[in-house]
Amino acid sequence: MRVCVALLVVLALGACGRESATAPDATVLPDKVYQWKLVTTWPKNLPALGTAPERLAKEVELMSNGRLKIRVFGAGELVPAMEVFDAVSQGNAEMGHGAAYYWRGKLASAEFFATVPFGMNAQEMNGWLHYGGGLELWQEAYAPFNLIPLAAGNSGVQMAGWFNKEINSLEDLKGLKMRIPGLGGEVLKRAGGEPVTLPGGEIFTALQTGVIDATEWVGPYNDLALGLHTVAKYYYYPGWHEPGPTLEAIINKDAWESLPPDLQAMVKAAARTVNDDMLAEFTVRNASALKTLIYDHGVQVRRLPDDVIERLREVSAEVLAETGKVDPLTTRVYESYTAFAKSAREYHALSEQAYLEIRD
Ligand code: CA
Repeated sequence: MRVCVALLVVLALGACGRESATAPDATVLPDKVYQWKLVTTWPKNLPALGTAPERLAKEVELMSNGRLKIRVFGAGELVPAMEVFDAVSQGNAEMGHGAAYYWRGKLASAEFFATVPFGMNAQEMNGWLHYGGGLELWQEAYAPFNLIPLAAGNSGVQMAGWFNKEINSLEDLKGLKMRIPGLGGEVLKRAGGEPVTLPGGEIFTALQTGVIDATEWVGPYNDLALGLHTVAKYYYYPGWHEPGPTLEAIINKDAWESLPPDLQAMVKAAARTVNDDMLAEFTVRNASALKTLIYDHGVQVRRLPDDVIERLREVSAEVLAETGKVDPLTTRVYESYTAFAKSAREYHALSEQAYLEIRD
């Protein structure tokens, strides 16, 4: 009997071997080299945000032993920053790296896949996306655009931004021209400000020439790299508007389906790697960049007043609830997001938050 089984196994293996030799699976061509273009919304090699897609490309090339080569383009090299979504959707590039909230004009639900004011932090976003149904909703939202999204980075809680005048009360927000994208901008508008959307590469000049009075960008590490401390006086916190934005890797669906399953798995693994790695990098480099800004450049760090934060929180709740009614899919995304956020907040009140309060 054992001999029979062994013989069957040998025959089966032999059959498999013959089958793959005579009729190879069309999706597995070990010698085929795929050459992809990856366009980004970031200036080329911008620390962390721009180096993440470079690392993703490198990881994929190493893991695939050169079978999938991805060439990374900075904003404006192949397409402008704000055309990344369309370029990948149309197949002019196979991949993109950016932030979902840049595409709010195309789909209202996109905001929730990046970050929303007073929303979830990085840890909670990763929980929602990977274990709470968030990624499935994101994939559904991007499917009509022929795109597959993956989480590919997170900056952690950002800073409120750089201001050329002090914010001492709600009055100081009136007429404030500030570069602040997404729902944060909408909240600022309702609180009396004038939000402006500009890609990273245009912020410095806009602040320097007085086209804007204030800007948010990321946090100390990236803000120092852009030199924002040389064109603004005050550095405010906390980043109420972006409490843990997820960055995205987007993939053209046709290009994705042309890959064999092992290369698809490598792209997913590389995205997950940079998703975790970026947060770790920001944790280290933001801390040291903040010291540089304060002690080497004399930057004045200020906390937003409580009444300003309270008003922004109230307006944010209104704006989120309205956004959640725009279309049926956005309603489902909003409901999933808010339910998960509530549950995470209840637990984190007793864990992360309670610990941060007692440790100092
Ligand atoms: Ca930002």
